[in-house]
Amino acid sequence: MSSILALARPDIIALKAYSHASWDPAFERLHANELPWRAETDRSVAGLNRYPEPHPHVLAQRLATLYGVQEKQLLPGRGSDESIDLLVRGFCRAGVDNVVICPPTFGMYAVAARIQGAEVREVPLLREQGFALDTTRVLGACDSNTRIVFLCSPNNPTGNAMSPAAMEQLLVALSDKALVVVDEAYIEFSGDRSLTTELARFPNLVVLRTLSKAYGLAGARVGSLIAAPEIVALLGKVIPPYSIPQLTIETVLATLGEGQLTIQRERVAQVCKERGRLSAALASCNSVQKIWPSVANFLLVDFSNPDAVLEAARAAKLLIRDMRNVAPSSLRITVGTIEQNDRLIRSLA
Ligand code: PMP
Repeated sequence: MSSILALARPDIIALKAYSHASWDPAFERLHANELPWRAETDRSVAGLNRYPEPHPHVLAQRLATLYGVQEKQLLPGRGSDESIDLLVRGFCRAGVDNVVICPPTFGMYAVAARIQGAEVREVPLLREQGFALDTTRVLGACDSNTRIVFLCSPNNPTGNAMSPAAMEQLLVALSDKALVVVDEAYIEFSGDRSLTTELARFPNLVVLRTLSKAYGLAGARVGSLIAAPEIVALLGKVIPPYSIPQLTIETVLATLGEGQLTIQRERVAQVCKERGRLSAALASCNSVQKIWPSVANFLLVDFSNPDAVLEAARAAKLLIRDMRNVAPSSLRITVGTIEQNDRLIRSLA
């Protein structure tokens, strides 16, 4: 067993995977207790009366090509939320193991860990240094029961990317001690290189990607967990069979066609342009104290009167996110269309 797999829960390593009905589209199916007719409203290609492929290879292959990795390095799931859940369930023994997170950051790392019964250790990002990683304190927080360090780059809600050197420092120091999970949900808006290129160097690296942000498929629920093949195989036993719905598989394959990808890249470019324009417009609002530099599709903004801003946005029929529970006087604004951004700016004038 590789040393990194030895970090997984022993009962999951020993677990025999569920044996699902065989999946071979060349045969007619009288083996899975399905109905032989489609519903009248069913517009899918394959028919929703049939179970989807239990572990959808064509989808995994297409996502692997998109992210420039091998199929055996990628596990598709129902959004990064499911990838995060699989990681804590596969690696953390309830009541024994712990994870390290760096707040302010995406809330699901802590929630998923707590659901699994893992302790959550917090090492805040360094606000005075633009929410940089505090690598010394992260390493200080780790002990022999630490299974996962969650990093988010670009980070939600602060919008900054973590320094590659700092992330590498953690990957090296924890090489056979803990997984370092780098959540790259927003990386397409940053133009930065993904850490997937470093998978061969770091067996403890797990990269999370999603189609929910830059690909406009939040409602389809598709994320990719990208890691060493033995980690992917282990978590493939934990994810339920048939977890990705047929409609989602078909939608993704259509959306990731070459013509569609050109449109998608243009939209990412438009969001990045609007991010700059929105930021410049907000900078001239009296109530704005600070706009944190962002390489994501949102801005973290400190206001002198956050309640009034939330109220003004609501009056303009716009929701923005109150972040005061994790960052004092901060609100998070997703970059919208030109019209939505203009409406928001007008509402704050
Ligand atoms: N990671 C980060 C950093 C996020 O901000 C989000 C969604 N807000 C997710 C993961 C969840 O993404 P998904 O829709 O793929 O579950």
